[in-house]
Amino acid sequence: MSLIDQALPYVRAISPYLPGKPITELAREMGIPVDKIVKLASNENPLGMSPKAKAALAKAVDSLERYPDDFDLKKALANHTGLGTERIVLGNGSNDVLDLVARVFLAPGRSAVFAQHAFAVYPLATLSTGAELIVVPAKDFGHDLDAMRAAIRPDTRIVWVANPNNPTGTFLPYPQLKAFLQAVPDDVIVVLDEAYNEYLPPAERVDTVAWLAEFPNLVITRSFSKIYGLAGLRIGYALASAEIADLMNRVRQPFNCNNLALAAAVAALDDHEFVAQSYVLNRNGMEMIIAGLKRLGLSHIPAHGNFVTFKVMDAAGVNQRLLKQGVIVRPIGGYGMPDWLRVTIGTEAENLRFLEALEKAL
Ligand SMILES: *Cc1c(COP(=O)(O)O)cnc(C)c1O
Repeated sequence: MSLIDQALPYVRAISPYLPGKPITELAREMGIPVDKIVKLASNENPLGMSPKAKAALAKAVDSLERYPDDFDLKKALANHTGLGTERIVLGNGSNDVLDLVARVFLAPGRSAVFAQHAFAVYPLATLSTGAELIVVPAKDFGHDLDAMRAAIRPDTRIVWVANPNNPTGTFLPYPQLKAFLQAVPDDVIVVLDEAYNEYLPPAERVDTVAWLAEFPNLVITRSFSKIYGLAGLRIGYALASAEIADLMNRVRQPFNCNNLALAAAVAALDDHEFVAQSYVLNRNGMEMIIAGLKRLGLSHIPAHGNFVTFKVMDAAGVNQRLLKQGVIVRPIGGYGMPDWLRVTIGTEAENLRFLEALEKAL
């Protein structure tokens, strides 16, 4: 028997995560100068990060010989959410907290429910525990909540819900979501992933944090990677009951969030001006890209995050021709959508570059 045969069979069965192509990789592959490449592949903030966060980073460099102290960020998030610090779990990116929930509730013999075309980290988090993944067919590319409710089995411990979802950009109206929470058995955890929450128009946003009081089985996750522009630092968080947060903290690595990420996140959370600027840039860019896609005769899925998912004939070929022009978008064949591409909203200049390159690539 080979050494590899000794590995856990459910780990061997996992398909690896495929990240967006890094700028430096395309530069190496095609000999395109880094500054001529436009990357709209990973839903990153085209404005970079908050200047306040940058200043906080520079300061934090002076204490990197020390182990991290997460007090300030927890306090800031407690202020931001109105919850006590005992209900906040910090993660090395929100992917990390997704993994923590899975480790607390899933194991071989248990299952988790997930929607077709939903975020790739849910299958990873589920399958790495040896639990079974129940995939529920999508409805109009979004979560079919009634079918997800019906798919819950006695051994189901987690239902994964992304709102808005990535890579489809679909959004579940809050009344539907709330009815779903009411219908789910109260011994099943609902993870509500709100990585794109800050990109929703304020008038459309509902305070889901307030739902935690009504639904002790709800876990909300949020991220500093998107509107806050800190994807490279890896910092995110979960909001849950004190009991669940305590369990998640037990399986968390004691220092999973580093000094730089903690300091930058505190400052970023406080930079309302930068967040507002990022929001407006995204709204305007979204209009521009959707108008451009329509002009090219392409259909797209109604978008609610900082990206648009659109349909093309020969997505692989179009993607390749975009890459040759130095434009990186995200093919999502791995999400069961081989005829679609996902483009992140960039700056006005980046959006223009993308639309021009796309017209040539078609
Ligand atoms: C980008 C994204 C996240 C955030 O991941 P981080 O680990 O915080 O960078 C979480 N959920 C979804 C659906 C996402 O698209």
